[in-house]
Amino acid sequence: MALLVCKFGGSSVASMDKIKNVALRLKDMQSQGNELVVVVSAMGDTTDDLLALAAEIGDKFSTREMDMLLATGEQQSAALLALTLNSMKCPAVSLCGWQAGIRTDGVHSKARITGIKAERINNELATGSIVVIAGFQGISPQQNITTLGRGGSDTSAVALAAALGAERCLIFTDVNGVYTADPRIVKEARKIDRISYEEMLEMASLGAGVLQPRAAEFAMHYNVDVEVLNSFNNESGTIITEGSKMEKQRIVSGIAHDLNVARIALFDVPDQPGVAMTIFKVLAENKINVDMVIQGGMRSNRNDIAFTIESDELEKALPLVNDVVMKIGASGMSYGKDVAKISIVGAGMQSNPGVAAAMFEALADANINIHMISTSEIKVSCIIDETEVNKAVQALHNKFRLEEAE
Ligand code: ASP
Ligand code: MG
Repeated sequence: MALLVCKFGGSSVASMDKIKNVALRLKDMQSQGNELVVVVSAMGDTTDDLLALAAEIGDKFSTREMDMLLATGEQQSAALLALTLNSMKCPAVSLCGWQAGIRTDGVHSKARITGIKAERINNELATGSIVVIAGFQGISPQQNITTLGRGGSDTSAVALAAALGAERCLIFTDVNGVYTADPRIVKEARKIDRISYEEMLEMASLGAGVLQPRAAEFAMHYNVDVEVLNSFNNESGTIITEGSKMEKQRIVSGIAHDLNVARIALFDVPDQPGVAMTIFKVLAENKINVDMVIQGGMRSNRNDIAFTIESDELEKALPLVNDVVMKIGASGMSYGKDVAKISIVGAGMQSNPGVAAAMFEALADANINIHMISTSEIKVSCIIDETEVNKAVQALHNKFRLEEAE
């Protein structure tokens, strides 16, 4: 008998019909002898709707109250699923995060799970029930309800799978798995059968969207086998596992792109020790994450420095950077949200020189200008104009022949 953790995202529980579909599927899995712990997201756009309601009050929120509000979305879907299962003569019990023993730190709206006390879950499982848990939430040391950041139910599921020693964590969503590129852009994009934790983490944080990056991190850390699959069909999905369990690693596994990128450039920055520190310290103190940095060629002891941040942070960053421009005596700045990041990801590129060159060649052949470049062992990223993204994704998919089977 296998213990499985199954997570159903908002699109999979968006209506009562869909909840019924989920319940039938779970009943079937249970009849095959599996013990089931189920994690649900809020129905459809519920979380966005709740955010919109609060926005009518103003824009200065108590994050504690916001967590109290947002956590109700998952509580609804958990109860509705348990009721539906019961109506099918399938014993089930729903639990809020705190009832399920999910403990977090006290950082409201982006809390981290610090531990799971699984006693209650195990007791409920022992009665033969399916245990349905509200995702995205936990309880802080101050006994307040916390939420784990947007998309956080993925992390709830992976953390539960780790804590319970589940055989696998199944993430049910509305696509068939992780693709070699966004199928809305590249029609030959192919579902990836297996991908390593490291690659998935890069794909997830580069905007591939099927799994919250923190969930991929958790899975890697606790060695949880995860499968991303479609709740609306019976096809096998993408298995995310240890690289060493994979027969061979492709040089490039996938192309990720991220539109949530803004650029800031500072001109004629004096070439002195401590200048870069002044700029980036201010951003760090204000919790603004800097991604890529480039320092341009020097002219008469002056440099240009450009960097990228998330688009949503631009409004917050501009006045801070403007102050720095004055302070260090730079001649000015420019900025914009008109750029995007495109990346190739693949564990096999560590041992294959020339992969970056092939990427630049593909972009050059497509007449796409590269503004910034960064690399790690398993990825190469370029900042390009946002308007060129679709063309770039397609060009790279062709270049690395990702339509060909593994
Ligand atoms: N309902 C939350 C959100 O929309 C959490 C989740 O779906 O995982 O972000
Ligand atoms: Mg989600």
